[in-house]
Amino acid sequence: MRYEETQPPILTLATGPVDAYSQVLRALSRPVLYDYDPAFLGFYESVVEKLRSALRTRHMPVILHGEPVLALEAGAASLIGRKDVVLNLVSGVYGAGFGFWAKRYCAELLEIRVPFDEVIDPARVAEMLKARPDITIVSVCHHDTPSGTINPVKEIGRIAAGHGAYLLVDAVSSFGGMDIDPDTCQADLFVTGPNKCLGCPPGLSLVGVIPRAWEKMKKNPDAPRDSILSILDWEYAWRRDRPFPFTPSVAEINGLDAALDLYLAEGPERVWERHALSAQACRAGVLAMGLRLWPADERTASPTTTAIRIPESIEDAALRAAVRARYGVVFSAGRGETLGKLLRIGHMGPTAQPIYAVMAVAALGGALNTLGSSVDVGAGVAAALEVINAAPAIARPNP
Ligand SMILES: *Cc1c(COP(=O)(O)O)cnc(C)c1O
Repeated sequence: MRYEETQPPILTLATGPVDAYSQVLRALSRPVLYDYDPAFLGFYESVVEKLRSALRTRHMPVILHGEPVLALEAGAASLIGRKDVVLNLVSGVYGAGFGFWAKRYCAELLEIRVPFDEVIDPARVAEMLKARPDITIVSVCHHDTPSGTINPVKEIGRIAAGHGAYLLVDAVSSFGGMDIDPDTCQADLFVTGPNKCLGCPPGLSLVGVIPRAWEKMKKNPDAPRDSILSILDWEYAWRRDRPFPFTPSVAEINGLDAALDLYLAEGPERVWERHALSAQACRAGVLAMGLRLWPADERTASPTTTAIRIPESIEDAALRAAVRARYGVVFSAGRGETLGKLLRIGHMGPTAQPIYAVMAVAALGGALNTLGSSVDVGAGVAAALEVINAAPAIARPNP
């Protein structure tokens, strides 16, 4: 291994886990309290209450103590009973992955699948629900991160609600970076995490649950209890007078507390704005260099991830290695089916700053040129700056 590869990069523009806010890093070093200390019991309740505000819901959410895949699997195990017919919507790697869990628990798994550079058409969901009135649960990934595309989850939510189906939404890499919350998409279970747009390290799952979903999970005899996969065990754990099913991740809760303070103080709308502007500047720069975005339709491109097709004649790993070696910048690779076909630039939490989009464009174009392409880096940087200059100045959170 070369010396530089043993050293952290200068700038991580990955699509998660992301760099953490410095306030979060400082909060992680707060004293580790005993979980039954009255100070911690009250603190835990206050953090869940802050999370409730951030999720813009009336209902107390649940924190599970493992990174968000835990809540996705726990959600499948808890909500889906052996009589349920599940309609899983697949426009990418995470949507497809949820199907594997759903299949384990349901009577029948149906899927609508589109190419991974496209998104789900709500009209097809409506047709499918009409053709199969026995569908009881719909599952969808809002932002399928390995494709950098956004599914129209609010429309899907309206359609599922009209049918009376339960809706499970994976909003892990969109919540906190754009306008999405459990109520606006009518989700029964809304799974997200702190390690994407909230700017925390990985280690927790954040789950919005509505009363109807609690009832459904309680009626499911196979829903995990006394288990790491249980959501039910945690229903009242937020209350200072109730026990924890097991020891919560104290340090991660300290970090989440700081992240929620930042998010609520800056104002969600302003946070979303700097995500959107960073992505817009990045896309403009990429296109001005003659590269192609991964999403077939730019209107479906995520405000938290820019996915770019790897040009013919360039090898994905060599490109990312050149970006890192020459400039100390890290991008994400594709995953599963998209691995090798695209690279991804994250605009999440502390990295959702327009100037980082300019740096990303320069690093990408510069590295392509070292590998024998001839892209116009100057045009890319100019295009990104033009987008930023045309927007009202963005207030920067103070590190
Ligand atoms: C990051 C992410 C998750 C969590 O899974 P990882 O183990 O961190 O990959 C789940 N769903 C989506 C859409 C994500 O982006």
